[in-house]
Amino acid sequence: MQKGRFCQPQNTLSKENFRHTHNLPVFIRNLLMSQIPVLLLGIFCLLTSSCKGSRPEPKIYQRTQFLLGTLVEIKVVSNDPAEADRAIGNAFSRIRQIEDLMSARRPGTWIERISREAAGRPLVIPQEMVKIIGLCQKYSRLTDGAFDISIGAITRLWQFDRPMETIPDARAVEDALRLVDFNKIRLDSQNGTIELVLMGMSLDLGAAAKGYAVDEAVEEIKGEGIKAGLVNAGGDLKSFGRKPGGESWNIGIQDPDHSERIIGSIRLDDIALVTSGDYERYIIHEGIKYHHILDPKTGWPARGCKSVSAACAEALEADILSTALFVLGPEKGMALLEDLPGAEGMIIDASGKMFISSGWKGALRLEERRMK
Ligand code: ADP
Ligand code: MG
Repeated sequence: MQKGRFCQPQNTLSKENFRHTHNLPVFIRNLLMSQIPVLLLGIFCLLTSSCKGSRPEPKIYQRTQFLLGTLVEIKVVSNDPAEADRAIGNAFSRIRQIEDLMSARRPGTWIERISREAAGRPLVIPQEMVKIIGLCQKYSRLTDGAFDISIGAITRLWQFDRPMETIPDARAVEDALRLVDFNKIRLDSQNGTIELVLMGMSLDLGAAAKGYAVDEAVEEIKGEGIKAGLVNAGGDLKSFGRKPGGESWNIGIQDPDHSERIIGSIRLDDIALVTSGDYERYIIHEGIKYHHILDPKTGWPARGCKSVSAACAEALEADILSTALFVLGPEKGMALLEDLPGAEGMIIDASGKMFISSGWKGALRLEERRMK
């Protein structure tokens, strides 16, 4: 519409010029006539630039909400504030839905229903639960049980989702360990059912649900036609497309010893990056730090690492992988990381030593103080 309004004066002006030139001396007339194409070109340039300028440039729109027990930040690139608002709103709603589906301690979630209703008999569960639990089981097999979502009976004793006040009784941990065994989860993908073989078993998707929520939030945003954005759920993040101007998203990785600093950064396009650290939820008891990533063989915190970052195409897989590598420790963890196609990352062991996967060696920019 605006284009039409601007274009009209172009014709009027050229007609006017023709009329007036008839009464002018010949050389001036010739001069003006010869300049008409230049004049028209100038006007055309002016018009196209003003038409272009009337469309707002793409900007980053951003909102933050407290969900999944952490601060979730969503950024989208758009030139339409209404579109950006709609996309971000839908993404937050989807995350809330997943929280309702998968939280371990809320009544009425699928996790709670599975513990109650799938003990000793198959229970039909939603297809998305089949997908997530299936991938968790794959990583349990790959890590020989270092990653194990049947850890619910133990994490219930630790209560990581509340402000931690004490550590559990060693006897209670010992007893609950009997109920931790991923081989006793019977998932039937074809029929969409799950059965927990041991009475009293319970599942905990705390190491996977956030990643899945990030993937789904990104799908919601893309569904609104948005071509670039980033979802960050407290260190579980996924980016797609590029920032306005074509630059990649620059992702900082938190220093496990100084929460206000980053240890390094990396430019990422269309990939998920998840960090699991011993600094996220913990309690210091008699001078010892007890954090929320547990060794399923002992029921106590895994001691090999301080922080693990894992990158792959899906945040669900990166989330599972970061926890799995943390429990495996630096040697076995790096071996698995190098074996997995499409996965990269970094492990910082308990002494602060860094291990960087081969694909990340040139890409990860370490902060100067870490390179010395
Ligand atoms: P965060 O949720 O802080 O990002 P993680 O992704 O590493 O950290 O998940 C830790 C959560 O996963 C714990 O709070 C617990 O619920 C669960 N968990 C702890 N240890 C294991 C394990 N070895 N295998 C599977 N899940 C675990
Ligand atoms: Mg995880």
